[in-house]
Amino acid sequence: MAGGAALAGKPASVLVHEHVLVDFVGADKIQPGRYDRDEVFRIARPKLKEVRRLGCLRLLECTPNFLGRDPELLARLSDAAGLEIWSNTGLYGAAGHKFVPGFARSESAAQLAKRWIAETRASWRPRFIKIGVNRGPLDEIDRKLVRAAAITSRETGLTIASHTGDGAAALEQLEIVTAERVSPAKFVWVHAQNERDHGVHEKIARAGAWVEFDGIGPKTVELHLECVRFLKTKGLLKRTLISQDAGWYHVGEPGGGEFRGYTYLYSDFLPRLELSEVVVLMWENPRAAFGA
Ligand SMILES: [Zn+2]
Repeated sequence: MAGGAALAGKPASVLVHEHVLVDFVGADKIQPGRYDRDEVFRIARPKLKEVRRLGCLRLLECTPNFLGRDPELLARLSDAAGLEIWSNTGLYGAAGHKFVPGFARSESAAQLAKRWIAETRASWRPRFIKIGVNRGPLDEIDRKLVRAAAITSRETGLTIASHTGDGAAALEQLEIVTAERVSPAKFVWVHAQNERDHGVHEKIARAGAWVEFDGIGPKTVELHLECVRFLKTKGLLKRTLISQDAGWYHVGEPGGGEFRGYTYLYSDFLPRLELSEVVVLMWENPRAAFGA
């Protein structure tokens, strides 16, 4: 990727938390063939092309395994739309463990990490670790997923993005990660906007981890702006990530249901920031957090 390359006057950018396809059927029922790949391709390609035209050079697709992760489809879309789409390894424990497969309940953190590390040698190569945990205090399965992610990060250098229920869960995860001798800079608190206590945002950012406000949309734009401004006033913009959790093809709904495009952040959020802030939030920080 060309460093800072602009496209037709648009600053280069990275979207750190979006989705192309999600299947909420659950780990016990999910299987290949529940959707028509060609149909998903036809629907998702124009959405990706549209955001590519706005300068997006890379999109991190945050759908974990057993929730509809489809690296083959993502590779095809990446080629067709002309932007990088990064997929992930890991497991999602949030939503009451509905998306945790049977083997992950009985295996140890080390065993799970071994699976995820092996996956990093796959031809499609996951570029980050995506996990999900419920609200704190974390239960045993969630703690195990965090430990497995930390071991995987230590072995592979990949960054952990964790869907996190609240600030208590964020603090507890950071403790587990650092206890495994992984730098806080390898941990991203996903959905930090769900915690309304800015004190926790500041604490996590000061510890050196990433605080990600990633639900930007028409109803939440003011909240996200306020969160970003808060960390900026604390001198912590360099630990802040933004995205919009948009998309996606909903497996099981006719035509994939409502696919929310990826442009809102560009049309309605970024114009309210200074250009220097846009460069930090949309280019420098994503690359510092997840790799250049
Ligand atoms: Zn998401």
